[in-house]
Amino acid sequence: MHKTYLLDSLDELQRHLAQSHEIYQVVPQSDDARADYHWQQVGSGNWPDLVEQKPLQSPKSFFFAEQEPLYVFDGETFEEVLPTPTPFVLFGVKSCDLMAIHYQDIFFEDDPYYQARRKQGLLVGVDCVTPCEQGFCQLVNAGPSVRDDTADLVLHPLDGQRWMLVVLSAAGKQALHGLALEDASPEDLHQRWENISHCEQSFPRYQYILEGIGKLNQHAISDEFWQQLGIQCLGCSGCTTLCPTCSCFATRPIESASSQQTSVTQVRFWDSCLYESFQREASFHNPASEAGQRVKRFWYHKFSDDFVPEFGRYGCVGCGRCEATCPGVIGVHSVMKRIADDA
Ligand code: SF4
Ligand code: SF4
Repeated sequence: MHKTYLLDSLDELQRHLAQSHEIYQVVPQSDDARADYHWQQVGSGNWPDLVEQKPLQSPKSFFFAEQEPLYVFDGETFEEVLPTPTPFVLFGVKSCDLMAIHYQDIFFEDDPYYQARRKQGLLVGVDCVTPCEQGFCQLVNAGPSVRDDTADLVLHPLDGQRWMLVVLSAAGKQALHGLALEDASPEDLHQRWENISHCEQSFPRYQYILEGIGKLNQHAISDEFWQQLGIQCLGCSGCTTLCPTCSCFATRPIESASSQQTSVTQVRFWDSCLYESFQREASFHNPASEAGQRVKRFWYHKFSDDFVPEFGRYGCVGCGRCEATCPGVIGVHSVMKRIADDA
């Protein structure tokens, strides 16, 4: 049974965590009511409210950097360049994005660059109490409530003003040390599950997603179908950039020269399995030279049962970002609808 507390507001918790951490939160990019939302460092006594909106960019770059140096070679020796972040808090991460971080924790388990950042990050999740646009987390066991092993602390909005705080990990408990907190009551706990249950029942049914996953795992989709989708893929990498579980990367050397010496920095950067060059081998043989093969590969990585033994779940957490960003109309809803209807 997790320890639960009651908060009248979030300020005191934010102020307390800020004594030992940098705090990052989702905020609007401008005062314009139509502005997008993004992750940003906050503080200096002016604590923003938690917003309901899901930001277009997930927090994956906090741990898996978009571009980073791996090592430097000065002509004689190699020197590893490990990141040295100060402790930080991601305050108010949605359940789907927490599940994606949990997924990447497994993928990058032995990656020292990812782990150096991950060890400094405290995750404060927030339960969703209303379904988001395009989201289907409840179909893929990623939300709308924060799953136990994906965060350190969880916030739940009880009644518009008060919050329940749930402690999920030893790091979460440690971070609260010195903060005077009131215990939550059994009624508060009941209210949390009522709110979550109401949210789960409010999602559209999205039956075609379940049918699509079923057909994909029965290998009942023709190659012609994938080829048709391939024609629509512009190879822009919008989906793989925004997808919180995508982890493809490549490396390249960048040379820098001074009057004293020349050195080479090996840099890692996000890549995309939808680029023509991604799987091209040194011999120039390409096992996925056609766009349709690459689109097929992407969707198998998201929904194939083959990956469940390794990750304990599908590679999709139901955030809906691919649908929101794809200019070729081959995001998850569009693809699954077409698979269910006519693949
Ligand atoms: S997909 Fe679910 S957990 Fe993610 S933002 Fe939408 S409702 Fe919340
Ligand atoms: S495949 Fe689409 S819906 Fe699934 S996690 Fe990635 S971006 Fe979100």
